[in-house]
Amino acid sequence: MSFSLAEIFAYAVLAAGGGTLILMLVQQVLSDIRLRALHRREIMLFEERLNGMREYRTQLQVLPAAWSGTRKFRVQAKKPEGGDICSFHLVPHDEKTPLPAFKPGQYLTFHLDVGGRKHVRCYSLSDCHHADHYRVSIKKMTPKDAHYSVSTHFHEQLNEGDVVDVAAPGGDFVLDPQGNGALVLSGAGVGVTPVLSMLNALVAAKSRREIWFFYGVINGSHHILRDQVREWHALGWPNLHIVVVFSDPLPTDEAGRDYDERGRVDPALLKRLLPSSNFDFYTCGPGPMMQGLRDGLKEWGVADTRVHDEAFVQVKQAVSINATKISFRKSSLDLELSGAATNLLDFAHKENVEIPSGCKIGHCGACQTALVEGNVRYLQPAKFNIEKGCCLPCICLPDGDIVLDA
Ligand SMILES: Cc1cc2nc3c(=O)[nH]c(=O)nc-3n(C[C@H](O)[C@H](O)[C@H](O)COP(=O)(O)OP(=O)(O)OC[C@H]3O[C@@H](n4cnc5c(N)ncnc54)[C@H](O)[C@@H]3O)c2cc1C
Repeated sequence: MSFSLAEIFAYAVLAAGGGTLILMLVQQVLSDIRLRALHRREIMLFEERLNGMREYRTQLQVLPAAWSGTRKFRVQAKKPEGGDICSFHLVPHDEKTPLPAFKPGQYLTFHLDVGGRKHVRCYSLSDCHHADHYRVSIKKMTPKDAHYSVSTHFHEQLNEGDVVDVAAPGGDFVLDPQGNGALVLSGAGVGVTPVLSMLNALVAAKSRREIWFFYGVINGSHHILRDQVREWHALGWPNLHIVVVFSDPLPTDEAGRDYDERGRVDPALLKRLLPSSNFDFYTCGPGPMMQGLRDGLKEWGVADTRVHDEAFVQVKQAVSINATKISFRKSSLDLELSGAATNLLDFAHKENVEIPSGCKIGHCGACQTALVEGNVRYLQPAKFNIEKGCCLPCICLPDGDIVLDA
């Protein structure tokens, strides 16, 4: 029960100096003052965040449109992050800034000459938007065979001052930092890059959404976000929860200091820590982690439309195929494909037919090839806008006899 100041004053006068009422009066006045101060602080905080969000939106609205084709970028800084991951800060070679905006979660597509061959690779933007540079963070992959990989080229050959050809940000694994609703962002290993960009964009936008960020990594020697985790904690936002998960901690790694949970970012962990399943989930990491989360979240009653993920590598599965004739026109080759096959690109490469390739998951369009005759069937939806009369060999197989312009 609460009294207005006037009521209390009237009671106090009536009681003509009654000690209890005077005490009540003083308590009520103090509590009113405290409440008002609290409300003022709340309002100030809210206004501060609202202004931050408005500022962020205005900044993005005035940015130029993305470029078509490729644009030259210079490596301004190369920063080893640990765990075989290196970050590259890229500034436009033409020095025209601000840089076009991108949606957190998108990637840049690099066109490079490596070992005398042209290569196309996608790398997620790993930070929020900055007017003067983009950042990507690249893990040095060791190929199973002896070939020289593009990520090795980045680590070993590409230095500060070098110039690279880059296609504009793309991809639809994206988050709107101005949106509403609670979020779970989870990333493991180098797969953390797109969700890191999402989190940094939310922080830049001073988001008030409920945010849970799960980062899974082997141990302290692979933990590339140590400083950032400290900075996020220092914000002291009650709506931001950071969970660092080590699968195999080193003896020197200390629970509570270096990591929060031991194990993997999996449905059991999410169910244990999250207050409910009422979130939108964004995940990037190894295939089994994403499949496990998809299955577990479905079981938990999360609608498919609320689960978003992105793979860096294709999970290949051979599917059986009726005997089909494939003619590669430029190579003057007529071949038969029968039994089981993974995709047209693998088949072409096995037969030494030169088709350029990039992401190999239907994102970047590097392998787009004219389909001169026949039809193909897609093994997964293409994320690239395929030109009429063409196909993406990395994610399709022939549907009957075909002729390809390769
Ligand atoms: C949309 C998208 C975003 C990406 N973002 C990033 C990023 O932010 N940082 C980053 O380091 N990479 C990222 N990648 C992966 C990157 O494009 C290359 O595939 C990777 O660098 C390997 O290329 P490579 O030429 O070095 O090795 P390749 O010669 O192509 O392959 C080397 C070997 O490693 C395997 N392999 C390749 N990538 C992985 C992986 N991630 N996990 C396990 N095995 C793998 C291949 O199957 C192969 O056996 C992304 C890929 C996509 C499609």
